[in-house]
Amino acid sequence: SGTLEVSDELRAIVGLPRLPAELTLADFLARVHPDDVGILTSAAEACRNEGTPLHVDHRVVLPDGTERILQTQAQLARDADGRPCGLEGTGQDVTDRHRVEDQIRWLAYHDSLTGLGNRLLFRERLDFAVAEAVRSQVPLGVLFLDLDHFKRINDTFGHTQGDRLLQEVADRLVRSVRESDLVARLENPPAISRLGGDEFTVLLTNVADPGDLAKVARRLLEVLHRPFSLGGHEVVITASVGIAAWPSDGSDGEGLLRNADAAMYHAKERGRNNFQFYAASMNAVALERLILETKLRSALERGELEVHYQPKLAHGGERVAGVEALARWRDAELGQVSPTDFIPIAEETGLIGELGAFVLRRSCLDRMRWSELGLPPAPVSVNLSVQQFRAGGVVELVERTLAETGLDPRLLELEITESMLLRDEKVVVAALVALRGRGVQVAVDDFGTGYSSLAYLRTLPVDSLKIDRSFVQDIGERDDEAALTAAIVSMGRALRLRVVAEGVELEAQRLLLEGWGCDELQGYLFARPMPRAELERWWSERAGISLSAPPSPRGADRAP
Ligand code: C2E
Ligand code: CA
Ligand code: CA
Repeated sequence: SGTLEVSDELRAIVGLPRLPAELTLADFLARVHPDDVGILTSAAEACRNEGTPLHVDHRVVLPDGTERILQTQAQLARDADGRPCGLEGTGQDVTDRHRVEDQIRWLAYHDSLTGLGNRLLFRERLDFAVAEAVRSQVPLGVLFLDLDHFKRINDTFGHTQGDRLLQEVADRLVRSVRESDLVARLENPPAISRLGGDEFTVLLTNVADPGDLAKVARRLLEVLHRPFSLGGHEVVITASVGIAAWPSDGSDGEGLLRNADAAMYHAKERGRNNFQFYAASMNAVALERLILETKLRSALERGELEVHYQPKLAHGGERVAGVEALARWRDAELGQVSPTDFIPIAEETGLIGELGAFVLRRSCLDRMRWSELGLPPAPVSVNLSVQQFRAGGVVELVERTLAETGLDPRLLELEITESMLLRDEKVVVAALVALRGRGVQVAVDDFGTGYSSLAYLRTLPVDSLKIDRSFVQDIGERDDEAALTAAIVSMGRALRLRVVAEGVELEAQRLLLEGWGCDELQGYLFARPMPRAELERWWSERAGISLSAPPSPRGADRAP
């Protein structure tokens, strides 16, 4: 029961010949875009079986490959006796109308000046994201950004230039948000909208750590602060950002947007060019980090960081087998700041590159000095952070530092944490292979915390294992920990790796570890990390060397 009467216009539109007068539905469907065949056939069925008039907008593909949008209407055709005998249809080309409708829809959801989404689109995406967050229980955040003193730009340069600036601001926001590391990890690209005037919003979903919102905010402030060129002038602007996170700062889209806006006003009150969370407690955390970062940056610039050294001992504590370099920072106001506090900040802000280069150079110079003093040739170990590998150039940095200081590569060891090896395997392993090729040694630090398997460990380019302090801590008291640690030691030895235990504080721990065949021990039981001069005294005493004849101070910043 499949005849179809197709009007001449419809035939002309879809490129079907005028004859035969009657076509089958299949003839017609052959011209329909494959994705739209489904709706059309089900509508045709409903028309044939139930008499429902057919009215569908669908795509057709013409013989020359072009696509048009067709509005097809059809109804039941009846024979002379009034019995249904097929469908009779007409069609109209509505491609242009659709284009206009698309354009109208686009305009309704976008800001024509910058091409960003507008308030309506932002609200829709925000409401959708909140519903998702409720379901997944993963936080999201809204950043509300407002340029500082934008009116002055308009007053000084005129509205045309003001508009140009807004377009540039939009470009920079989009680029910086899309390029940030944080966002690279997100599944959905963030929605960036211009709400109107000089107000912009950013929606970030799947935010694991609310601190990430602060990072994005800081970055936006930074990129906007770089000079703009406006009508031949260099213009520097600032902005203020308010942050509201779900669920702490609002339960729905409307509340979040309102609170991000309120937080933005706070930022303005606080002198502009900064960001504020809606929740006061978050600001305290962010502020503390900012203070640390600012102080760390200037400490690095002024050369106020130091390196202390902690020995590793072999043969029952008789021989110094190596010396680990540990960064130290004393701030006039904050006092001694622990590396566990400042290293993560250095990593987040990129300062780790400079810090790491400093520690490496200082360590190599000091190791050179120890050779001149006649101290034994035990390597100096320098901790490296994964960010240094990610940024690239670690191999070059080490080579350059060795060349500049003249240190024998065999006197340098690099400590890499196990978790870092696991996470960024390719980059890190390639660099380690290159470094070991130059004669530098590599140790896996904090071993046991990253759950790497024996089989995996065998494939890594490393010379020694440092068993994490947390294992050593409990071996004297807990049999299960003792058994586990003993197993790690024998496994390491089976792989012909040097096995080092760190954090040895008690005689009982030392006895156990030595009994299991641990090669080297490090910990407060033997020595704490010491400033260079103190280490030299300590070491020379053990080695039976007299330091009384002062060596040439080449390579040393300060004489002892
Ligand atoms: P890590 O590499 O595991 O360094 C060992 C840490 O244990 C050091 O803490 C050391 O002072 C401490 N320690 C040594 N013996 C004992 C002991 O018997 N008992 C206890 N409770 N602790 C002991 P520190 O100096 O605070 O350094 C902490 C972490 O900061 C280091 O852990 C390392 O991951 C990082 N770090 C320090 N300096 C640098 C550096 O120059 N570069 C990089 N990337 N990281 C560094
Ligand atoms: Ca270490
Ligand atoms: Ca360690």
